[in-house]
Amino acid sequence: MTDFAATKALFHLPEGVIYLDGNSLGPLPRSAPDRMAQVMTREWGDMLITGWNRGGRDSAGWMGQPMAMGDKIGRLIGAEPGHVVLGDTLSVKVYQALASSLMMNPGRKVILSDTGNFPSDLYMAEGLVATRGQDHSLRTVAPEDLADAITDEVAVLMLTEVDYRTGRRHDMAALTALAHQNGAYVIWDLAHSAGALSVDVSGGGADFAVGCTYKYLNGGPGAPAFIYVSPRHADRTPPALSGWLGHASPFAFDLSYRPGAGVERMRVGTPPVLALAALDAALDIWDTVDMQALRAASLRLTDQFIAGVESSCPMLTLATPREHNQRGSQVSFRFAEGYAAMQALIARGVIGDFRAPDIMRFGFTPLFIDQSDVDRAIAILTDVLHNRLWDRPEYRNRAKVT
Ligand SMILES: *Cc1c(COP(=O)(O)O)cnc(C)c1O
Repeated sequence: MTDFAATKALFHLPEGVIYLDGNSLGPLPRSAPDRMAQVMTREWGDMLITGWNRGGRDSAGWMGQPMAMGDKIGRLIGAEPGHVVLGDTLSVKVYQALASSLMMNPGRKVILSDTGNFPSDLYMAEGLVATRGQDHSLRTVAPEDLADAITDEVAVLMLTEVDYRTGRRHDMAALTALAHQNGAYVIWDLAHSAGALSVDVSGGGADFAVGCTYKYLNGGPGAPAFIYVSPRHADRTPPALSGWLGHASPFAFDLSYRPGAGVERMRVGTPPVLALAALDAALDIWDTVDMQALRAASLRLTDQFIAGVESSCPMLTLATPREHNQRGSQVSFRFAEGYAAMQALIARGVIGDFRAPDIMRFGFTPLFIDQSDVDRAIAILTDVLHNRLWDRPEYRNRAKVT
């Protein structure tokens, strides 16, 4: 079992704030500032360049951290040990997985995705297609039409498991099996899954999986992304971004590239050691967390929120599926004045966010949100809506980040 009161005490949460946006940027683990300070002064400061061999956890060296910490994430997503590596941003990892899939399936020219996918994933696919001349294309269909769209033209199916807007969750095992029957590879983006629910990339048959660490994993703004390559492909995947740290022997300084062993070939350049220090502190918290218990707690909180809001705020329309196995750990409601309403909520200490055109999005993370937080959030939301507290010009001014 997991003691969620204990995990809550491990985060810095500003007084009076109910933070329902850990699905976008996780809060600060209390241990992170000290851990970063230690890496800065004892490691960067005192070890200087020898930190590459001596720094990091257990003095294993900064250079080994992307793989060592990759395994900690691997446990949370059901990956085989040694098959997850950290680095770069999620957009870059999407590109790498796509490019490798196309190279492994050269007879086919279509990347298939859905219209619920996060735009950056689609943009990266468009950019990759543009490097391939006229032959390749990106095809997007509605999420419910995917099964019919998995034809023998499809080289790779690229999906985000949990929809960033609605929280709708795809059936990873079923769609992966269908794609494989049709000769396509599958890339799962776990941006809204890793740390949110129990994921099983190995059991689900994923060929590649990618995700970020600054959302539910609480690694801090700009924390590096991760990539998983199935052991079926790890030693034969051609890497498209063939950087020196994915080379079999970076310090041989060969003039031509030879891919490194397994998923290490997905490394590109120098790891972000300072960012990894904060992520390392955040990942410690996960050592105490059982993912089944986390999922059960998340469903209790989201059920409580849905029931409370539906009974007191009839002007909102639920956008998230009700069925447990069809949703992640966020709840979204549609409301025409959703942007202004969210600003009014934030001004009252309930922090969620807004996704165009009309989605009010609330993330529920049992590590630091409990039932009394949910009750208070419902009460404040009810006040804002019933008393039209959102109806003020300053709440309509759109900021750069919504
Ligand atoms: C958050 C998110 C991203 C962001 O990518 P970055 O490169 O880390 O900025 C990409 N894809 C999905 C599905 C996301 O949810």
